[in-house]
Amino acid sequence: STSNECPPDVEQLGRSTWTLLHSLTASYPTTASNEQQTDMRSFLGLFSKLYPCWVCADDFRSWMADPSGKNEPRLSSRAEFGQWMCEAHNAVNRKLGKKEFDCNFWEERWRTGWKDGRCD
Ligand code: FAD
Repeated sequence: STSNECPPDVEQLGRSTWTLLHSLTASYPTTASNEQQTDMRSFLGLFSKLYPCWVCADDFRSWMADPSGKNEPRLSSRAEFGQWMCEAHNAVNRKLGKKEFDCNFWEERWRTGWKDGRCD
């Protein structure tokens, strides 16, 4: 549902959490130091253990740990991290049968605002 509920259900928790996660990418440094990358890697590791929707957390961890290595967090820069988070969100969108988001627009959605002034 789109209305606020108390306590939050999986959907409301998800929307709020994606807001936090994408906002973390929006405020990430354009070029990240080793320490900043290490901090974010720790955050993602703990987040994916503690996220209070356990099936969500388990699937997210498995996705990140794909044996190919292709889903490992990319943390060298805001551009890389923002793109990676968009791909992570799209993996969940696919799983849930939702429309994928065009990752060329992640920054307009989450950092700069849409060029046409709207904010959905
Ligand atoms: P949301 O998916 O919450 O998206 C919010 C807004 O983000 C959208 O309106 C759009 O503007 C924008 N957006 C959409 N896709 C992208 C993208 N790829 N990149 C950037 N911006 C985008 N729910 C389950 O039922 N099962 C699960 O296993 C599950 N796993 C989850 C794992 C994680 C890590 C998180 C954070 C959430 C998970 N959820 C899960 C919740 C689910 O992803 C949605 O948040 C929830 O279903 C509400 O969906 P929504 O349609 O309102 O939009």
